[in-house]
Amino acid sequence: MKDIGLDERDPNGAVQAGVSMAQTTTINGERASTNRAFLRPVRHRPNLEVRTRAHVTRVLFRRGEASGVEYRDGYTGTLKRAYASKEVVLSAGVMNSPQILMLSGIGPKKHLSSLGIKVVKDLPDVGENLMNHVSSLGIEFLLPPGWPALPADINAREQDFTHFAPGGPLSSIGPEEVTAFLRGSGPSVDGRPVWNLRFYGNIPKSRGGPVCIPAPPQDPLYYDRILVTPVLLDCKSVGSVRLRSADPLAPPLIRLNLLGDEPGRDLRLLVQALQTSAALEDTPAFQRANLTLNRAPLPGCEQHAFGSTAYWECAARTHTLNTFHTAGTARMAAPHRPGVLDARMQVRGVPRLRVVDASSFPLLPSGNPNAPVIMLAERGAHFIRQTWGQAARGAQDK
Ligand SMILES: Cc1cc2nc3c(=O)[nH]c(=O)nc-3n(C[C@H](O)[C@H](O)[C@H](O)COP(=O)(O)OP(=O)(O)OC[C@H]3O[C@@H](n4cnc5c(N)ncnc54)[C@H](O)[C@@H]3O)c2cc1C
Repeated sequence: MKDIGLDERDPNGAVQAGVSMAQTTTINGERASTNRAFLRPVRHRPNLEVRTRAHVTRVLFRRGEASGVEYRDGYTGTLKRAYASKEVVLSAGVMNSPQILMLSGIGPKKHLSSLGIKVVKDLPDVGENLMNHVSSLGIEFLLPPGWPALPADINAREQDFTHFAPGGPLSSIGPEEVTAFLRGSGPSVDGRPVWNLRFYGNIPKSRGGPVCIPAPPQDPLYYDRILVTPVLLDCKSVGSVRLRSADPLAPPLIRLNLLGDEPGRDLRLLVQALQTSAALEDTPAFQRANLTLNRAPLPGCEQHAFGSTAYWECAARTHTLNTFHTAGTARMAAPHRPGVLDARMQVRGVPRLRVVDASSFPLLPSGNPNAPVIMLAERGAHFIRQTWGQAARGAQDK
């Protein structure tokens, strides 16, 4: 990456563009989930109760304020209720928080009425502004023969995972350890990077047609090629989440709309990113390592000359990669701007109801969203403590 002019930097520092070791939410060689990092250490608290297989079907209201939730108990199949003494916090994620809001009568009036749902609060932006990063699976570099060696007994090697984990060589994230943020040639918002180049160890069988993620590999342990995915961070295409029906157990209607912006800007930038990625073949580092671009045409793009703009457009459109970095379907906004939440993540016009998850983001982070969601949740916890700490202090003062 230094060969293409990138400096080594901390991407969470003052300037994000550059190359670095990827920062991960891991501890002692193992990925640390939010459950492990935040919930397990406080499981003993008497004021914490975790109910599993509880599917929230709607928010309950008393005198126009959120007062609890109704949920389906997956063990008994019955509907139950849980009441809040202070407030209700939805954290069901980008697809399901807006779904629960709409099932509860909070959302675009016309849409809710068309499904026979009683409108509690007309908020046209619920489910809108579905943002996501987009990439393509179009670029593979082949490792030189014999590096790393694919052992003949590859399928018998699964014990390597348990033998070395945690903390052993196989607990590394492999080529993903390198991550690069690039500004691109055009103007970027606030000097933020436009692309993130990511590198994955790949195996031949995972390249298999117009799918969003590589098909499950049969030989899971070793790779003989590196997949370069240029992730477009500054996407303009937005989709939406709507209800399919008033049935709370029906999956919502999700329109991702990747590469769907009208002027085709996202497609153009992704094509530039694919071209930049392919050109890595000419860098001294790739030449030294004898990494060669796989010029076998992608399935569905054989009609285009490899490397032409039409070919890369086809690669972007046919082998589109959903990065699962979705956000924004219940976004925070200033009072005069379209949005769902105020700056303290409270639902506009519905007292005692907050949404704290990736749906609350007003803009898409210029990087992976997991750590920013954790930060957002810390901020939400701070707001909740502030609100109810102040209320408690106020009561004491009276
Ligand atoms: C396959 C995949 C890979 C990813 N890899 C990365 C990565 O490497 N790095 C990164 O930074 N980000 C990654 N992400 C994105 C990251 O996981 C999300 O940004 C993050 O988890 C969003 O957090 P959230 O709290 O908004 O929602 P979630 O983590 O989705 O949490 C929502 C929770 O609500 C529950 N829920 C939903 N509906 C209901 C309901 N009706 N009743 C009760 N519970 C409900 C869900 O089961 C879920 O547990 C990945 C995402 C996916 C899908």
